[in-house]
Order: sequence, then structure tokens, then C-alpha cells
Amino acid sequence: MSAIRKVAGGRAGSTQRRIYPATDIDEDVIKALNASDVPLSAYDLVERLQSKGRRVFVVSIYRSLARLCAREAVERVEMTARYRIRDTPSALLMTCEQCGRTYPVAASRQFEELELAIAENGFLPGKVALETTGICRICRATGGEGNE
Ligand SMILES: [Zn+2]
Repeated sequence: MSAIRKVAGGRAGSTQRRIYPATDIDEDVIKALNASDVPLSAYDLVERLQSKGRRVFVVSIYRSLARLCAREAVERVEMTARYRIRDTPSALLMTCEQCGRTYPVAASRQFEELELAIAENGFLPGKVALETTGICRICRATGGEGNE
């Protein structure tokens, strides 16, 4: 009886190594980004998804991030090469050098002005990013205690 259970257990174990569907990866990437205070790199995401017992390669994470960025559900923080939930469209992203948090500030008008200036110069832009690094309000108030 216990031998049968072991076989059944073995089969259950092997099903955990089955293909990780792209829709599940996308959903898990969104969950991981939502659960994090700071933007995450593709390698951070691999670690977090693998800690949930799923086997995933970084190339699958990059594909997922490309899909999620195309859907505008996620955005890349260019200065740190990390990803965050895109909660504010056309935002200036302020990344704190002490705690790593990224704060968005709505800047639609500034983006429109930049896109106009780019078009006037006959340049066809890919992504336009407005970003800054510095020290956030929490870290300034606590002397860096905003760090996790
Ligand atoms: Zn900070």
C-alpha cells in the first residue's frame, strides 16, 4: 500500500515539472511585482517564481516581461534595468538610491512636449523615458531607515 503511495507521490512530483504555461508565468510575474516594494530584475523574478516551486528560465521571464510591457501592465525602469507595475501612465519615475523604491509622478504634458520636440527633429522615437535617481521622502526623513 505504501509502495503505491510512493509511486503516486512520484507522479505528482513529476507533474510539477510540466510546462509552465505563458499565461501562468505572466500572472505570477504580476503577482511578484505587486508583492514587492521595489522594482524587480528578470533574475529577481526567476528566484521568486522558483521559490514557489516552479521551474522557470530567465528567457521565459524576459518573454513574459515583453508581453506585459506591450500590454502596458508592466514597465521597465531604464536606469536600473528593473520592472514595475505600470500604475501611472506617462510618468516620471523617481528611483531612490537608498531604499530602491521607484515613485511615479504623472507627467503627461511633459511627455507630449517631448514627443513634439522629437517629431520636429524628424526623429522616430522608440520609448521615451523620464527618470531620475535621488533620495526619497521616507529615506530623507528617516536617514535611510526606509530601506527594507
Ligand atoms: Zn528611499
